[in-house]
Amino acid sequence: MSEDARDGGPAAAPRGVPRAAPSEAQLAAIYQELILDHYRRPRNKGALADADATAARTNPLCGDEIALAVAFEGDVVRAARFTGRGCSISQASASMLTGALVGLTRPEAEALVRRFTALVHGDAEAAADASLGELRALQGVSRFPARIRCATLAWSALGEALQTLQARPAASGSSG
Ligand code: ZN
Repeated sequence: MSEDARDGGPAAAPRGVPRAAPSEAQLAAIYQELILDHYRRPRNKGALADADATAARTNPLCGDEIALAVAFEGDVVRAARFTGRGCSISQASASMLTGALVGLTRPEAEALVRRFTALVHGDAEAAADASLGELRALQGVSRFPARIRCATLAWSALGEALQTLQARPAASGSSG
């Protein structure tokens, strides 16, 4: 029965401590801006004439459409482009995907699909993975299950594109 009824004022932040790290609200604002920037000025949007693999996905729940095209140089992604329309999350995610994909090997791209999918499903380890870079801007969708499909649409298309690529015999050509 020894409840101390203390004055319930808000705990004051220690003075003199530099506020280097942005607050959660600030991060959310930054991420929101990043998503909107990719939505308004999508990177790598348009047709890719010499694509090695393509795949398309739709999200009827939201009206999102994404068609993804990837071109390889050997086993490394040389170019990735997308076309589509839909909500800001779906289009920004596709824009970010194409940027993150170039330069990756096929296994690296597959690993990134898995990593990103974990991220938007709320995986804490993925959320702390700095190597995901600006893709982490989309981690917030894990709190909105209806939007997860929007965020993963392009990635689902990428997974399919990589699979169709693997189903085909490797292109002839010497390595190196
Ligand atoms: Zn959507």
